[in-house]
Amino acid sequence: MGTDSGIPYVHHTWGPWRGCTKVSAGCNNCYMFREQRRWDNDPTKVVRCSKGNWRQPFKKVTAGQVADGLYPLAQMFKEVWQPGDRVMVCPWSDFFHPAADEWREEAWGVMGARPDIHWIVPTKRTERIPECFKGLAGFHVESLTILASVENQAMADKRIPELLEAKAEWPCFHAGVSLEPMLEYVDLRSVGWAIEDADWVCNALTGEAWCQNSDSPSGYVDDCPKLEWVIIGAENAPKDKVRHCPSVNIHSAKCDCQSAGVPVYVKQIHYDDKDCSGRLNKMPKGWTRQYPDYMESE
Ligand code: SF4
Repeated sequence: MGTDSGIPYVHHTWGPWRGCTKVSAGCNNCYMFREQRRWDNDPTKVVRCSKGNWRQPFKKVTAGQVADGLYPLAQMFKEVWQPGDRVMVCPWSDFFHPAADEWREEAWGVMGARPDIHWIVPTKRTERIPECFKGLAGFHVESLTILASVENQAMADKRIPELLEAKAEWPCFHAGVSLEPMLEYVDLRSVGWAIEDADWVCNALTGEAWCQNSDSPSGYVDDCPKLEWVIIGAENAPKDKVRHCPSVNIHSAKCDCQSAGVPVYVKQIHYDDKDCSGRLNKMPKGWTRQYPDYMESE
């Protein structure tokens, strides 16, 4: 499979719109702001991308690409994005940004028209998922993963329950977390969300739930919506801005996931230099890089 993305766990990215507004500390050093300013674009303005971008998921392999040795002849006129490829949606924005409401239904349609792709949608606006799914009765994308993007415990305690509550209502997607940039150790084992009017509390990492209200019959179940994938990464930012993440924090969060049997992908770590410079190790040798069963591993 070809890959044209600098993000190691996806093959491609797809940006139907660009521009965003910052919502929390994880946004402070957002790369999109730096890059868009370099091109003289206003990063705070959400704009629809070109028709070419919208057609990208359907682009075919050309004779030139075959001649360049990029694809075998047998693939000529097949889509460049191959079945089973992983594609990140909105690398230059937030898919659930309110300024993109008028284009989202069309974007869902594009994703639905390529059901052979693993679509991965990271977001810091998990509170908007239910309202953005409304009106999509019967909507189905074969493999859609929404990642709650969280940087610290407070955001994990807010966004992960919002994501899993949405999944309980709309089971048409897989739920995961992107802990990047990880700004402090985040204890995923302690994240719970309430079901059935808060009578039940469910653990986000294990899917175990129990009744916590003494007025209700007590009970215990172990198959509630839970996190199916966790991505962890130290911050990738300029030297004078980067916030150092001790690798022990990443190791601890990784072990928490492994103990619960949740696939975990360590994207990058900081070297633990004496001066905590935040120097990045993008390919940390031997660190776990797993995918959920429903995605191909490579
Ligand atoms: S939500 Fe994402 S794209 Fe938007 S400012 Fe924050 S980090 Fe950047």
